[in-house]
Amino acid sequence: MHDHKTTFYVKTFGCQMNYADSEKIHRVLMQSGCLKTLDPAQADIVIINTCSVRQKGEDRVFGFVREIRKAAKKSGRTPVIGVTGCMTRKTGMAKRYLENTQRDQVYAISLLGGEGNFWNWDDPLLLRTDDIDFVFRIEETGHVCKMLSIILDRDFGNDEKWEEYLKISQVASGTASSNVIIQTGCDNYCSFCIVPYTRGRELSRPIAEIAEEARKSVAEWATEITLLGQNVNSYGKLTRKKLWNESALTWDKADIVTPFRELLDELGEIPGLDRIRFTSSNPHDMTADILNAHFEIPALCHYLHFALQSGSDAMLQRMNRKHTYADFKAQLDYLRSRDPLFSISTDIIVGFPGETLEEFEATARAMRECEFDFAYVARYSERNGTVASKLGDDISASEKARRWSVLNDILRDSVRNRNLLMVGRREEVMISGTGPEGIWVGRTRNFKEVHLPRNPDLRIGMIVVADITDLDGWALRGALATPVP
Ligand code: SF4
Repeated sequence: MHDHKTTFYVKTFGCQMNYADSEKIHRVLMQSGCLKTLDPAQADIVIINTCSVRQKGEDRVFGFVREIRKAAKKSGRTPVIGVTGCMTRKTGMAKRYLENTQRDQVYAISLLGGEGNFWNWDDPLLLRTDDIDFVFRIEETGHVCKMLSIILDRDFGNDEKWEEYLKISQVASGTASSNVIIQTGCDNYCSFCIVPYTRGRELSRPIAEIAEEARKSVAEWATEITLLGQNVNSYGKLTRKKLWNESALTWDKADIVTPFRELLDELGEIPGLDRIRFTSSNPHDMTADILNAHFEIPALCHYLHFALQSGSDAMLQRMNRKHTYADFKAQLDYLRSRDPLFSISTDIIVGFPGETLEEFEATARAMRECEFDFAYVARYSERNGTVASKLGDDISASEKARRWSVLNDILRDSVRNRNLLMVGRREEVMISGTGPEGIWVGRTRNFKEVHLPRNPDLRIGMIVVADITDLDGWALRGALATPVP
């Protein structure tokens, strides 16, 4: 057995899926006897979970690796650095380890890898720097201990039990909110997106397995579950092949009961589960049963994040998005017709190759019309390997910045208008953390951020009743309406 004082640190870049994946890495290492540290400079093992969406994100990874090596040199440590996530294409170790490894170990690890031979040293990341010891695709998280056993030349435990990445449950994150991955991969191939290449084909977990994980989290600590997947609308499509239209990448009938709705119904029955949310979904394959679930399952929060990306249909086509602006707007209008306070957030890209001023104006108009509760507006950044990278990045950085700033101004106004609708209301707020000067930060059921004054009786995970009194920047300010339970 290895020494139980081996410490690890996981650094996460990118989206909520990556954070959930990092929790799986935590689970695997902790169950192998390693201790988590909050200080990367003290860690024996550093794992970096990366994001490829923007070039800047990739640069930050190399910067972080250099920082770790520098800090380690000062303290005389030699941490093992592993990289996973979207920047990783293959699973393997730096050549120096492979040269010293016995053939039988190679054979053992290849067996664990199944058909995908991950006995590589030629992942582009390993070729770029000597500072990284190993890389693994996130789906190979279960084999991390085997790789560490070879690198550190001591037994990190048999990791055969971790063979299926999706079955590795997340660990409690210190809040009352549990992230549950229901699906990974994506078949949509939006032209700007690297995910289908990094995470591969879409794969869904069975309902029973997800429900069991959710029940366990709720029994132990969680009151909120966030379901994560690249496109939850198509969750379980392989189990309903007759109803799934493979060429249009959508359900054949708009009025079916989708597997995702069945999953929501099942989770809605879990006693003690107060809030369910999910991300992300796509407008092109959204069905009525999922929209209606928000009004038929009490625990399902009145909040939806789905990506518009552009207000111009011609641009959406070039992005290989399969919805039109009208499709998106109809869904948004329906949700808000049933609850005017229904919160909607979205993703927008400005400066996509060839974006004309008219196309940009269409997006600006859409943002005004939709009055989003929040939006992530990104300046287009070219990703090697995507279809869009062949189109040329022809909008200048300054013009992208100008367009971004126009949209941000629209967003600031819409967030303010939407938040003003909340002032004067009494809301249930789930405490999720603290902010500057010890204020408490929480979320309403429709996912609005609320700031509450310091109070020694509050704890993360509590649900309190608060009067919304005012705006506080992009968030709301509230005051406790009833004593702390
Ligand atoms: S739906 Fe499009 S943007 Fe979302 S993960 Fe799939 S390819 Fe990427």
